[in-house]
Amino acid sequence: MDFKQIVSHAKEYGFIYQSSEIYDTLAAVYDYGPNGVELKNNIKQYWWRSMVQRHENIVGIDAAIFMHPKTWKASGHVDAFNDPLIDNKDSKKRYRADQLIEEYADKLEAKAEKEIAKAARRFGDKFDREQFVTTNERVVRYLGDKDAVLKRLATAMKNSDLTDLKQQIEELEIACPESGSRNWTEVRQFNLMFSTQLGNIAGEEGKLYLRPETAQGIFVNFLNVQKTSRQKIPFGIAQIGKAFRNEIVARQFIFRMREFEQMEMQYFVRPGEEMEWYEYWKDLRLKWHKALGTPGEKLRFHDHDNLAHYANAAVDIQFEFPFGFRELEGIHSRTDFDLGSHQELSGRKMQYFDPELEKSYVPYVVETSIGCDRMFLAMLSQSLQEESVPDASGQESTRVVMKLHPAIAPIKCAILPLVKNKSELTEKATAIFNDLKFFTQCQYDEKDAIGRRYRRQDAIGTPFCITVDFDSLEDNSVTIRHRDTLAQDRVHVSKIEEVLRDKINMESLLRSF
Ligand code: ATP
Repeated sequence: MDFKQIVSHAKEYGFIYQSSEIYDTLAAVYDYGPNGVELKNNIKQYWWRSMVQRHENIVGIDAAIFMHPKTWKASGHVDAFNDPLIDNKDSKKRYRADQLIEEYADKLEAKAEKEIAKAARRFGDKFDREQFVTTNERVVRYLGDKDAVLKRLATAMKNSDLTDLKQQIEELEIACPESGSRNWTEVRQFNLMFSTQLGNIAGEEGKLYLRPETAQGIFVNFLNVQKTSRQKIPFGIAQIGKAFRNEIVARQFIFRMREFEQMEMQYFVRPGEEMEWYEYWKDLRLKWHKALGTPGEKLRFHDHDNLAHYANAAVDIQFEFPFGFRELEGIHSRTDFDLGSHQELSGRKMQYFDPELEKSYVPYVVETSIGCDRMFLAMLSQSLQEESVPDASGQESTRVVMKLHPAIAPIKCAILPLVKNKSELTEKATAIFNDLKFFTQCQYDEKDAIGRRYRRQDAIGTPFCITVDFDSLEDNSVTIRHRDTLAQDRVHVSKIEEVLRDKINMESLLRSF
């Protein structure tokens, strides 16, 4: 399904609404509806349990959003958490200079891909992609230009060279997508942190920030957690919570929001052992994604061209969103930068005494950081499909189905009396529902023809529909319809939980990788 269809489906079926819609919305802020909150909670639970429950050496915390302002000085966010901003003087629209250049590079790649696809069609089975890409003059030029553009961009970003960013935009003749004009302002740095003011202190002194990442809540609590949980290195601290960034360009639905949720885990290790753990977490995080049924070709690693000031290695797990491969999760080897900076600014020793080595040191950190909302969008875009299936009368018809992993589906099963207004059927179905609701998230639905009710459940990803028919009154059995295969099994009421349990529970998912 294309991106537009995904966005409208998300609204129509109660997954995601734009914030403050009755006041014409607030840009880049979104609310989760009844099905959305269930799916989001399930994603969070899958992440939390795979970290905190599965690893005896990972513990959780829930730190406050407000932190002492010195935190953001030590972390580098006050001085360096900037994006290069450029305005178009004609449209008055604001852009990220680096993104304009990246989009230019994307277009070069798309041109190359177009040539490749054309040749693949022409040569059919004999097509050798590798050979074509390295020998076709046009493709070589497009891809070479793309690499050169990205390389120069990475250098300019690394050196915060705003003049060169502007120069590149001019040299590449990049125009404003809105007005088509090349009438640009200079490039300026724009700090992404939202600030607010404490009630009892005026001026700079009382200035607070909404946290732009959850990680710092973990670092400043490192000593507290280590002492109170008696963990030995290596160990991790996990946290799920809101983060806020004043993004300049916040299009693309919940991919880039101003208020979003992060799931972060900081793993504290011995200095010198960080690369082993970096590889360990790269591998495990990819397995976590694949266990949900995400095909390997939709995920890829992308090493950072431009390492952040705190990192000695960094990789993104990219997912193929409807608008291309983009970062879904980051895995960063952050060295002792954060603990070291907090130690320096606070004057408190952020050290760990290693009983085996018999010495104290500031631990190194490997972090895994994933946006919950981006994960949500990945799940929506991957699972939402339109397919042709036979309807009740055997005719081919199209259905929209969300093929979510059953363990994260918002509703696990729907209980449907075959027809309504037949009091014995609705009574029996209601009794089954009233029992199953203690077992899992269920929905009772008796409105409309059974075919339409199936479609409604398909559209929100319900893996099982339980139909109560007239035979049920005789044999105390029901029909269980499987969302993906459309197979229907006749099952005794006393066996429903047994049939469903293994498929829908998180335990099987956690054991599967
Ligand atoms: P990007 O380059 O896309 O801005 P980032 O590299 O700044 O992302 P990190 O600081 O590494 O992102 O944050 C970790 C994760 O948080 C990202 O992988 C992403 O999933 C999520 N994230 C970051 N910014 C946003 C945002 N504005 N909206 C939603 N999720 C976000």
